[in-house]
Amino acid sequence: MTRTDLLRGIRPTPRRKVLISGAGVAGPALAFWLNRCGFAVTVVEKAGTLRSGGYPIDVRGTALEVVRRMGILPRLQDAHIDLRRLTFLDGDGSEMTSVNPHTVTGGVAGRDLEVRRGDLTAALHTAVRDDVEFLFNDSIDTLDQSGHGVDVSFRGGSRRTFDLVFGTDGLHSRTREFLFGPEEQFHRYLGYCFAGFTMRNIFGLSHETMMWNTPGRAAALYAVGDNDDVHAFLNFAHPEPPFDAFRNPEAQRDLVAAVFADAGWEVPGMLAAMRDADDLFFDVVSQIRMPRWSSGRVALVGDAAYAPSFLTGQGSSLALVGAYMLAGSLADRDHTAGFAAYEHNTREFVTVNQEQVGEGDATLFPTTARALEQRNDMLRKLSTMPSTEGRPAHSALTLPEFMSTT
Ligand SMILES: Cc1cc2nc3c(=O)[nH]c(=O)nc-3n(C[C@H](O)[C@H](O)[C@H](O)COP(=O)(O)OP(=O)(O)OC[C@H]3O[C@@H](n4cnc5c(N)ncnc54)[C@H](O)[C@@H]3O)c2cc1C
Repeated sequence: MTRTDLLRGIRPTPRRKVLISGAGVAGPALAFWLNRCGFAVTVVEKAGTLRSGGYPIDVRGTALEVVRRMGILPRLQDAHIDLRRLTFLDGDGSEMTSVNPHTVTGGVAGRDLEVRRGDLTAALHTAVRDDVEFLFNDSIDTLDQSGHGVDVSFRGGSRRTFDLVFGTDGLHSRTREFLFGPEEQFHRYLGYCFAGFTMRNIFGLSHETMMWNTPGRAAALYAVGDNDDVHAFLNFAHPEPPFDAFRNPEAQRDLVAAVFADAGWEVPGMLAAMRDADDLFFDVVSQIRMPRWSSGRVALVGDAAYAPSFLTGQGSSLALVGAYMLAGSLADRDHTAGFAAYEHNTREFVTVNQEQVGEGDATLFPTTARALEQRNDMLRKLSTMPSTEGRPAHSALTLPEFMSTT
């Protein structure tokens, strides 16, 4: 109690205590804004540290305004990768066409940002780490909402009670499973799997992407700068999600190697590098679609609630916008009204961005020879077109000014 409060005989309202599970993109962004709104915030992350590096991800449209309001826009502009060329190769490795990347992604040159995922998470973490508690190497074991708050037991052995809990733990969210049951109900598989990893830049590539395709298979090298590493990416059509491979990196490597066994261009070298990579990231290309994003005192944000898939390039932007909208909705309301306002004001933006991709028609990754030929015709025309104005979906929400967030 401050001296003034004592003089007035007023008890200050205790800060509402909240737990955020997951320190990817949505987690630290939500922590930042909830702290601004006066909450006492704890973030628990199952990894031992923040993950650095990673693939280029986009921050576009409405999400740019979120990072500007957080004060991290200049840092992200410094980290902008500035990919200058996207070259498509035929099955034999010969060049099919080369385009300005923005004509394909719908990004706007000079405004939208493309940064390595680790650069974004580091910028978000730096913006909030002095104001909130981070618990690495731990995770929620059980959640119990039967009392007046949420009783949480952690894998590490401790127990605490929070007023609210938020799941920002990604596509395969455990928080979502606690609340709503198995992922299958909400998982919309788009028919592809992918593997990403870092390998040495023995190709002389700089600020550019090379992409090799045959029907149902794509291999890409992303050179995010002039440095010694490139990001390798292998994407392939697969009729069902390979559930057996999810918890087994060796099975993932075997599956990818089998799919690309007879592939040309630099793919044999990429497969060899994948065997040794210590940062292999393997997953399905899927969306999460849920009728509700909260239950009781627990709400979901980012991929956990509405993963759009990398085919839209909007995962990070939805996570940033969702975090801002949720925190702002809670600034001057109780959680029931706040969660309702978050859904009401954010869902249309989420839906219009998720609809940027339809099942099986991922333009960049055709699965038949005919669809590949049609895509190539479209790309050859694109190579002569100027950069785009951006897709309306990316800016389909005008960020409100919430009380105490701005
Ligand atoms: C390592 C990695 C690489 C990625 N690479 C790409 C890419 O190349 N292209 C692309 O488009 N998208 C990629 N994504 C997904 C993209 O980053 C997301 O769309 C976007 O970041 C959404 O942010 P998010 O915070 O909702 O989820 P995420 O960024 O997935 O973050 C979730 C966080 O929760 C943590 N977590 C998971 N389970 C638990 C648990 N039980 N308890 C505590 N913490 C938990 C994770 O370790 C992670 O830090 C990647 C995600 C990860 C984790």
